[in-house]
Amino acid sequence: MELGKTFDPKSAEEHWYQRWIDLGYFKADPARPGPVFSIVIPPPNVTGQLHLGHALNVTLHDVIVRTRRMQGYNTLWQPGTDHAGIATQNVVERELAKEGKSRHDLGREAFVARVWQWRETYGGRILNQLRRLGASCDWSRERFTLDPGLSRAVTEIFVRLYREGLIYRALSLINWCPRCETALSDLEVDHKDTPGHLWYMRYPLADGSGAVTVATTRPETMLGDTAVAVHPDDGRYKSMIGKKIMLPLVGREIPVISDPSVDPAFGSGAVKITPAHDFNDFQIGRRHNLPQISVMDPHGRMNEAAGPYCGMTREDCRLKVVEDLTALGLLEKMEPHQHAIGVCSRCETVVEPRLSNQWFVRVKPLAEEALAAVRDGRTTFHPKFWENTYFSWMENVYDWCISRQLWWGHRIPAYWCERCGEMMVAAEPPAACIKCGGGDLRQEEDVLDTWFSSALWPFSTLGWPERTPELERYYPTSLLITGFDIIFFWVARMMMMGLKCTGEVPFRDVYITPLVRDQFGKKMTKSRGNVVDPLQIMERYGTDAVRFTLAQLSVQGRDLILSDDRLAASRAFANKVWNAARFVLMNLEGAPQPLPRAEIAGLPLAERWILASLDGAIAEVSAAIDRYEFNVAALRAYSFIWHEFCDWYIELAKEPLKQAGERQTAVRWVLVRCFDGLLRLLHPFMPFVTEEIWQALRPYIDELGLAPHLAIAKFPAPQPLRTLDQDEAAAMERCIAASEAINSLRSLLGYHPGQRIEARVKFLGGNEAAEFRAEFEQWKPYAATMAKAASLGLAGPSATAQDGMVTAVLGWCEVAVLAPEGFDFERARAAIRKKLDEVTAHLNQHQARLDNPDFVAKAAPEMQEQMQQRAQELAGQQKLLREQLRLLEEAN
Ligand SMILES: [Zn+2]
Ligand SMILES: [Zn+2]
Repeated sequence: MELGKTFDPKSAEEHWYQRWIDLGYFKADPARPGPVFSIVIPPPNVTGQLHLGHALNVTLHDVIVRTRRMQGYNTLWQPGTDHAGIATQNVVERELAKEGKSRHDLGREAFVARVWQWRETYGGRILNQLRRLGASCDWSRERFTLDPGLSRAVTEIFVRLYREGLIYRALSLINWCPRCETALSDLEVDHKDTPGHLWYMRYPLADGSGAVTVATTRPETMLGDTAVAVHPDDGRYKSMIGKKIMLPLVGREIPVISDPSVDPAFGSGAVKITPAHDFNDFQIGRRHNLPQISVMDPHGRMNEAAGPYCGMTREDCRLKVVEDLTALGLLEKMEPHQHAIGVCSRCETVVEPRLSNQWFVRVKPLAEEALAAVRDGRTTFHPKFWENTYFSWMENVYDWCISRQLWWGHRIPAYWCERCGEMMVAAEPPAACIKCGGGDLRQEEDVLDTWFSSALWPFSTLGWPERTPELERYYPTSLLITGFDIIFFWVARMMMMGLKCTGEVPFRDVYITPLVRDQFGKKMTKSRGNVVDPLQIMERYGTDAVRFTLAQLSVQGRDLILSDDRLAASRAFANKVWNAARFVLMNLEGAPQPLPRAEIAGLPLAERWILASLDGAIAEVSAAIDRYEFNVAALRAYSFIWHEFCDWYIELAKEPLKQAGERQTAVRWVLVRCFDGLLRLLHPFMPFVTEEIWQALRPYIDELGLAPHLAIAKFPAPQPLRTLDQDEAAAMERCIAASEAINSLRSLLGYHPGQRIEARVKFLGGNEAAEFRAEFEQWKPYAATMAKAASLGLAGPSATAQDGMVTAVLGWCEVAVLAPEGFDFERARAAIRKKLDEVTAHLNQHQARLDNPDFVAKAAPEMQEQMQQRAQELAGQQKLLREQLRLLEEAN
C-alpha cells in the first residue's frame, strides 16, 4: 500500500471512522474479561450546536478512552443527549410563534408530540458533530434522558425519595419567570447589576400620631405589604413598635414589627414587608406569622388583590403607584440606586419571586454523604483545588426546587383525588383513591427540572434500577470530564443521587477542563465576535490537528489559549509524520513482510539509542495520561517524533539503508519498530493520520495476533528494555550536543545546507582524553552525518586553532569549523553588528515602555504580557548575536 504525496484529512476521516464503526470496535461488552474503564459523556442538549467547549471535552474523552481501549481495558464510553426541558420547549415555542401560534393553541399533548417531532429531526445533529471529531463512543448504546428506561429511573427515584421524606411539596416563594411561566432554580437566575432607584414613601400611623418612612426599590409591591419592620434596638422607632399603620392606596391596617435582620443603616431604617414578593420578607413573614398577599398573576401582571391596579404590568403599576403617592404627598424623595436584578438565564426576563406550590428535594441529608465521599478520597478532582469549590457549595446547600411549570419533561408522578383531594405519589397511576376509593384522579401538571434526570445519568444509562450486567460491570464509572461551570448543577447532584441510589460514588475521578480563550487571552463570546467554530477549523486544519492542539494546550488549572498559529503548527506536525512515513515506506520496498526481528544487543549505538528513546517516550506518555496531564503526553509524543526520530534517527538511517545487507535489514527493522510504536502512542491524539499510515506499515510488523486496525492495536507498554547502558546514553548526548554546536557554526559561516565542511572536536579536561578518544570514535560517524562534515577530526590537547577556524566552547569540549574559502570575516562581523544594533534598539524601545509607569497603569494586562514576551524574545536574540560576534572576533 502506498501513501499519497500529501495527507488528505477529509477522506481519511470519513473512511476510517466508518470502518471502525462498521467493525464494532467501539462497542462495549460487559462479558469480556479485563480491567474496566467506563465513562459517560456529559449529555449535550438536543438543541446543542458543537462549540469549542464540546470539542475540547470530547477530544480529552477520546484520548483517554482510545488509550485505555488499546491498553486492553474493557472500555465503555456511554453517549447520549439531554432533553433540556426549558431550552427545548423555548425552541419549539419560537417555531410555533412564527406560525402565529402558542403552545396553548395546541394543547399539552399535541405540543409535546411536536417537540418529539422536532427532536427526531434535529436532536441527532450535535451527536453527528461529535462523530466528526472521531469520538469513539459505543453508539449502539445511545440514550436520551426522556427515553422509557431513563424515565422509569426518574419515577422510581422520585417515589423513593418522596416516601423517605426527602422530596416534599410546599407553598413557598420561588423564582418565577413570567415569560417562560415556570419556576426557576436559583442557579437558573442570572444577577445583573442595574441602575435603579430607591423610593422613600411615607406610611401614616393609623392613630394619626405621625408617619414612618420606608425605602424600597420596588414601590409597586407595596400593594402586598403586610407589615413594616424596624430593628429592635433602633431608638428612632422604639415607640412605634406594636402600633398600626394605615397602608396608603390600599387602606389596610398593618403592624409595625421589630426584627433583628433589619439593617438600621439602610434607607430610613424602616422597611416594608411583602412576604409574597421578596425572599427576605418571606422569612421575616414566617417568623411573625404575617399574611402572604400575592398581588401579581403568573404573567407578571397585577391581580385582583392589587385593587384598582389590577391588570397593569409590573412596570406600569410602578409608575402609577409612584404617581398616586406623589399626589397624596406621601413620596418623600427618590435616590439613584445600583442593585442586582435577577433575570431568567434562558430569556433574560426579570424574574419575579412568586408564592406557589412547588416540589423540593431536601438536599442537606444527601449532601453530607456526597461531601464525605470527596473528603475521604472515594472521588478525586483533577486539578484538586476544584474540591474547594465543591465543598463550599455543598456546605451551604438549600433545598432544591425541582418542579417546573413546563410541558416538556418528566411529569411528576403525583395524583390527586378529585373527590376528596387526597394526594398520592406512585410509580404507576393508581386505579383509585386510597382514601375514598374514588376513581377520578388527576396527575400533577408540573414536570421535573432537567437536572433531576441528568443527576441520574451515570447509572440510569446502565439500566438502573434493574441490576443489569452493564451496571454490575461498568458502575461506578472511572472518570468524569466536564467544565467547572456545572460542578454544582451536575457533578454535585450526580454525587448525591449516585450515593443515595447505589451506595457508591458515580465516578472515581473528576477532570475539570480548562476554559478556552482566544489568542489574546479573551473569553470567546458572541458579542466580541471572537467565537471559533470547531467545524470550521476542522475543515481548515483537519480533525487530527484540532484534536492535537486542544490536547497539547490542556494544562490543568489554566486557561487554554487557542490561536491559528498553534493549529497550523499541529497541521505541520501531521504532515511531518506523513512525510516520515513516506520515507520509511520507500525504504522498505522489496523488504520481507513481516521483517525479521533484529538481535537488539548486537545493534550499533544509534539503533539501540533510538529504541531506548522510544521506550522513554512510551513510559512518559503513559504516565502523563494516567495523571490526566494531556498536554505533557501530547508534547512528549511530539518531541520524540519530531526530534529524536525525524531529526536524528532518520538522518542516521539514510546511509545504511542504501546498501543491501545485514545492516540494512537491521535498520529497516528498527525504523518499523519505532514508527509502529510512535503511531500507537500518537493514535489517541491523532486517530486518522495514524490509522492511515499504520495500514501501510502493518505488513512489515512482526507481532503475534497483530490487530487489523490501529484503533484496537495494543498500546505500547512501558518496559525497561535496557538497550543502552549509562555510558552509552551519555555518549549519545555528547554526540548530539557537539553536532548541534557544529551546525550553529555552519550557519554562522554561511554554508549552504548541502555543503560539506571541515570540523574538529577537542576534548577539554586532560586526563580523560584517552577515554573520550575511544568514545569519539564510536559516535564520530553520526556527528559527521548530522553536521555534513567531509572531515571530522579530533584536535590534540596542544593543537591550536588553525587560521580561519571558528571555535565554540561547550562545557566539556570545543568544536571548530573551518570557514569557507574567501570568507570575509570583516563583512560577516559588520553584518552581525548591524543586526545586533537593530535588535538592541528594538529591545530598548520595548524596555522603555515596560518601565514607564503610565503604560503599566493603563495598558491592558494581555497587552503588557505580550510586550513582556516580545522583550524576552529580543533579549534572547541579542544574546545569540553577541555570542556569534564574539566567536567571529576570536577566530581572527
Ligand atoms: Zn424565561
Ligand atoms: Zn379520594
